Amino acid sequence: MNILVTGGLGYIGSHTCVKLIEAGYTPIIIDNLYNSKKSVLKRIEKITGQLPLFYYGDIQDKPFLDTIFKKHSISSVIHFAGLKAVGESVTKPLEYYENNVYGSICLAQVMRDNQVNNIIFSSSATVYGEKNATPYIETMQTGNVTNPYGWSKYMVEQIYVDLHTSQPTWSISLLRYFNPVGAHPSGLMGEDPQGIPNNLMPYIAQVAIGKREKLSVYGNDYPTKDGTGVRDYIHVEDLAKGHVAALNNINQSGVHIYNLGAGIGNSVLEVLAAYEKACHKKLPYQIVNRRAGDIAAFWADASKAQRELNWQTECSLDDMAKDSWNWQITNPNGYPDE
Ligand code: NAD
Ligand code: UDP
Repeated sequence: MNILVTGGLGYIGSHTCVKLIEAGYTPIIIDNLYNSKKSVLKRIEKITGQLPLFYYGDIQDKPFLDTIFKKHSISSVIHFAGLKAVGESVTKPLEYYENNVYGSICLAQVMRDNQVNNIIFSSSATVYGEKNATPYIETMQTGNVTNPYGWSKYMVEQIYVDLHTSQPTWSISLLRYFNPVGAHPSGLMGEDPQGIPNNLMPYIAQVAIGKREKLSVYGNDYPTKDGTGVRDYIHVEDLAKGHVAALNNINQSGVHIYNLGAGIGNSVLEVLAAYEKACHKKLPYQIVNRRAGDIAAFWADASKAQRELNWQTECSLDDMAKDSWNWQITNPNGYPDE
């Protein structure tokens, strides 16, 4: 069964392609390589023994998308392609809305024109905004988002809900990810941030490898267990399996919303301690001011995915740190250019 995977060379997309192949699906990847490298394909092949079909192109290019839908019989789409840097979205809102919102509209239009009505969309816990109490449950009202990136996810969710209302045969899964970290246990695939990492674990990884001097911990005066921010970290392997679980259930029309998280909150200092254990050394850090827009603590109520998709996380925080470090030491400069 052919599954079109937009953004399939990116961090979560590449891990999901491996799981799709292992589950007997055939991923067809499209990616504009804005935040990924073509050499990821060879890594997928090394792990699975199969080189996925890849098309270089942009989801905003409707004629390009249309040729792919005409050429292949596609049963479902997993839509990862998007820009994801929260801070950058504040300075480049138009680019974020164009790529994430307009791109998602183009994709759905071409799907509709080709009678492909099953889509799984990468949403984010950020749609719960800053007013909901933790743990977040799918039935909570979304909104009150603090940045254009988050609003772009909120808007695409709404657009896809409206699309389903207009054409109820669609099956639309909105997967709200919490904090994906870690890497493939082989060390062949992982997160490859360009420039200074925005997120916690990739930053710690670069401190551990000696690329950055020390971690800046953004605030230790939050009302949390040790004063530092608390998040729900999910191993990218578990997250990838969540997509296969959602795909196995895609034949039911409707809008299906799932939190994909571990259901546990860990603090910045706990993540740092897990990483120190993984790399067998003390890692330097300093406490600095809170980061603007940060929420003190949130994690998922992930029971709906467990109930309906028979999916739950299996990896611990130690597994996440161990696999992240394994990827970091074996690929200190990330993926090769070709
Ligand atoms: P990523 O940047 O590693 O992967 C996204 C991929 O999409 C990249 O390979 C990029 O080149 C490609 N892409 C971007 N715009 C495109 C376009 N217009 N046309 C074709 N390809 C395009 O990001 P990721 O971490 O793998 O995230 C995947 C999705 O999950 C994104 O939509 C992201 O917003 C969402 N998400 C990520 C996180 C996270 O923390 N990583 C959390 C919640 C949601
Ligand atoms: N964080 C930190 N230093 C960093 C990056 C992140 O202290 O260099 C903290 C951040 O304040 C938050 C947690 O780590 O409490 C996770 O941040 P990340 O950016 O990875 O995820 P998000 O805040 O988007 O959920």
